[in-house]
Amino acid sequence: MKATSYNPFETAQKQFDRTADLLQLNQATRDLLRNPIREYHFSIPVRMDNGKTKIFRGFRVQHNDARGPSKGGIRFHPQETIDTVRALAMWMTWKTAVAEIPLGGGKGGVICDPHNLSKNEQEQICRGWVRQIVKNVGPYEDVPAPDVMTSAQHMLWMLDEYETIVGEKRPGFITGKPVGLGGSLGRKEATGYGVMITVREALKELNIEPKNTSASFQGFGNVARYAIELYQQMGGTVVCVSCWDQKDQTSYAYRKKEGIDLQELLSITDPFGGIDKAQAEALGYEVLPGDAWLEQDVDILVPAALENQITQENVNKVSGRVKIIAEGANGPTTDEADQYINERKIFIIPDLLANAGGVTCSYFEQVQSNMNYFWEKDEVLGKLDVKMTSAFISVSDFAKMNNLDMRSAAYVISVDRVAQACQDRGWV
Ligand code: NAD
Repeated sequence: MKATSYNPFETAQKQFDRTADLLQLNQATRDLLRNPIREYHFSIPVRMDNGKTKIFRGFRVQHNDARGPSKGGIRFHPQETIDTVRALAMWMTWKTAVAEIPLGGGKGGVICDPHNLSKNEQEQICRGWVRQIVKNVGPYEDVPAPDVMTSAQHMLWMLDEYETIVGEKRPGFITGKPVGLGGSLGRKEATGYGVMITVREALKELNIEPKNTSASFQGFGNVARYAIELYQQMGGTVVCVSCWDQKDQTSYAYRKKEGIDLQELLSITDPFGGIDKAQAEALGYEVLPGDAWLEQDVDILVPAALENQITQENVNKVSGRVKIIAEGANGPTTDEADQYINERKIFIIPDLLANAGGVTCSYFEQVQSNMNYFWEKDEVLGKLDVKMTSAFISVSDFAKMNNLDMRSAAYVISVDRVAQACQDRGWV
């Protein structure tokens, strides 16, 4: 399922407009929140290993910072577009608000494919990205983080460049750093665990024991694998995962009806979350077309790869047994598909709530970095559980009280908090 002409920013704006109507926001607040407050487009010249210089396109979008410094990841992706970055930045604003952490929303990206870049070339892109944007980011302005195809190593190169330019140690500039060099314990688990904490709470509401459930995942990267880890600890069975196959330039779904073995699959997974097809077959996995993850006869679906994956065209393939869709990825469901899911009364845990564990732990990392005092892993994960559970309960209570679906409830709560902050500051 490749992204086609779908424009995630249009989806994000539509979602915002609907919420603005519900909240009866005034025109100035709508005009302010409908678009990013600032955005930067720049070129990053990189001397490639072959001695030639190549120019990469980079972006940073700061959607809103009324509640605190902008916060959001940097994606490396060959199909990155400014509208994708704008949508993701807006979603970060709502996400930090729904999780009740004192941050705004931002996002960045570089159009590149790390699969085809050496380590040195990737380092030069990271350092070049920071050189172009250094005046407009920082621990109290805008704090980047890893996202699709960027890692702790990329963050460390960026931090090193930033600290070299500003001439002092400022580990709070960026999050997702390696543990021991300003990173937080629990960060790598945080997004996936956060997804499963919300699933655990949804199962409680539906009166279903996790051990009696099964799930299918799209994606086998950072988010999916830790969500799977916690889900299996809760007693659930994962029957299918899908991921991108770099060699064949398509996606495949790997199925084992009795349940996948996480460690076994991880042992045949590349650093980008792609599974070795031949080895998976040898281990007894059925290899199906990538879309098959959506069609499994399971209780829980977790899209944890890309945006725009559950669409009008494929949503009717979702099995009648599915009770929960937990959006690990950002924007995996289109508007039309969302309506269908609501009609089917499937319990949707929207992205801004389900995957807020990542930014929550990034906030913990920022706090620890600024204090230069680091917490034990249990403390981090305990605080994460408290924050995620309380965000879930606020949204779910609000949804029930106002007869709204979970996505609308999460939007109303978060847009209201941001609008209020803008009004209190006297911006609108
Ligand atoms: P990742 O790069 O670690 O993994 C992405 C996974 O998706 C890989 O397994 C890849 O093979 C798979 N994939 C790519 N294209 C696919 C396709 N067409 N079909 C099936 N699988 C495909 O990324 P991640 O960090 O796990 O992020 C996944 C999603 O979660 C993204 O939408 C990201 O924005 C969102 N997210 C991530 C975090 C975080 O902390 N990492 C936080 C919040 C949201």
